[in-house]
Amino acid sequence: MADSRKLEVQSAIFSNLESGLSYVQTVRRCYCEGHCPNEEPTGTCEIKQGGQCFAATVEVWDPDTNTYEPEVTYGCFPADERGLLQCKGYLVPHLQSKSIACCNDYDHCNKNLTPQYEERTTTEVPSILKQSDSLPYIVCLASVTVCIAIFLLIIAFVFVRYRRKEEQRKHYGGKRYPEKYNNIDMLPNSTLAQFIEQSSGSGSGLPLLVQRTIAKQIQMVHSIGKGRYGEVWLGRWWGEKVAVKVFFTTEEQSWFRETEIYQTVLMRHDNILGFIAADIKGTGSWTQMLLITQYHENGSLYDYLQDHVLDPSSLLVMASSIAAGLSHLHTEIFGTKGKPAIAHRDIKSKNVLVKRNGECAIADFGLAVKYLSDTNEIDVPPNERSGTKRYMAPEVLDNSININSFEAHKMADMYSLGLVLWEMARRCITGDKITSADEYALPYHDCVPSDPSFEDMLQVVSVKKIRPQVPLRWDTEDVLQAMSKIMQECWHANPSVRLTALRVKKSLGKLNLDTSIKIV
Ligand code: ADP
Ligand code: MG
Repeated sequence: MADSRKLEVQSAIFSNLESGLSYVQTVRRCYCEGHCPNEEPTGTCEIKQGGQCFAATVEVWDPDTNTYEPEVTYGCFPADERGLLQCKGYLVPHLQSKSIACCNDYDHCNKNLTPQYEERTTTEVPSILKQSDSLPYIVCLASVTVCIAIFLLIIAFVFVRYRRKEEQRKHYGGKRYPEKYNNIDMLPNSTLAQFIEQSSGSGSGLPLLVQRTIAKQIQMVHSIGKGRYGEVWLGRWWGEKVAVKVFFTTEEQSWFRETEIYQTVLMRHDNILGFIAADIKGTGSWTQMLLITQYHENGSLYDYLQDHVLDPSSLLVMASSIAAGLSHLHTEIFGTKGKPAIAHRDIKSKNVLVKRNGECAIADFGLAVKYLSDTNEIDVPPNERSGTKRYMAPEVLDNSININSFEAHKMADMYSLGLVLWEMARRCITGDKITSADEYALPYHDCVPSDPSFEDMLQVVSVKKIRPQVPLRWDTEDVLQAMSKIMQECWHANPSVRLTALRVKKSLGKLNLDTSIKIV
């Protein structure tokens, strides 16, 4: 150390001699590293009298070890007050006084200085490096901002819609119809039923454009039933309840057939489900098919019989209304605006709806066939659908039915009607004891499994010729006695001796008259 000092003093003198000065040098050289002139990595810098050579230890963040490591740098402080202050660490940011040491007693004196390094107690990551860490916060902040913006947009949208509806309501004086319906001669206070009555005088339904508009304006409320071909929803059209059957995408043919049948001229009848509109939309693989009808809150006859018992007169009302509906369906009406005869081909308690007035309405025409006597043609629907096995007539099960004979289809309907009458009669009380009614049961509940196969039904109905049991208690009640006779004539093995729907309607009507006379 002393030798090197000597050498440096000598070289200083030497250099001064070289520059022609004979006095003690006034310029001092310092070792520099990290603070060199001209951006050199290491070298020498010069100070004048009063200047200071310095060595400083700074902490540098090492991303490999994730810690601060000491690093010593060297350089010159100028000969002024600042230099001195800097030597005390006052003017050097993040540098404590102990981390810097100064000297000026010989050239490169600072090379031998080792300023103390005070280790940080914190392992905090430098703020510049923290930026990457703050990225999730920035993303989070941006997402929250976007969410708030979307939320405000939705509120604005809902508000605008609400305002528009309010205006519409005011505009139509509290009524439910949009302006476009004013030009189709609608009465100012009419309900949907009256509206249909007015604009479909021929009985073939509303104009297609109107149907489509109605379909678009319906709000779906909740699902009320599921069949094999679609799901039925409760919907609302300007506040009025409607039933919306949404067909499964594969059931386009069923939708088509049912819509076609409902739009048949003179199809409207009190005991046939009231058709309102049909709509189909979508392209390619996705199609939505809707059928909008009157809504009956009691649901299907099947549902109704689960938790309601009937008295003889309500049984009569129900039974004769179904017979009336079926008779209207089966009957051909002649004339220019005539109606073809229609066979239902899927009569069962799940396809009959119970109206509020205690009557019934026949529904689900996805399998129906039409017949016009002058052409003698039956248009059997092109769909694969077949009736419900449990309700299939023996001639359908053993395939002896002549499907080209319309009469045969009507007779098969009559067989199914016989089973429906039996389901209802079981739930009828005898005397005034509610408990006298039998539990609800499906036809053949006691001889086939819950989801019978074609073969199961064939064996029971066609081969063994079994029919539902008629309980003895029915003999104690006139209506039930008469009904039991009617149903047995309906489910006769020989189709040609079965009663017609008109006959059943008349017989039940007569019975109704007789009982009301008795009651009076
Ligand atoms: P699918 O062709 O799929 O058998 P349906 O037309 O028979 O469909 O309807 C299925 C079920 O939906 C019915 O059994 C009944 O419970 C309910 N339903 C159908 N139409 C109405 C309606 N207009 N009002 C109330 N319930 C209905
Ligand atoms: Mg059905």
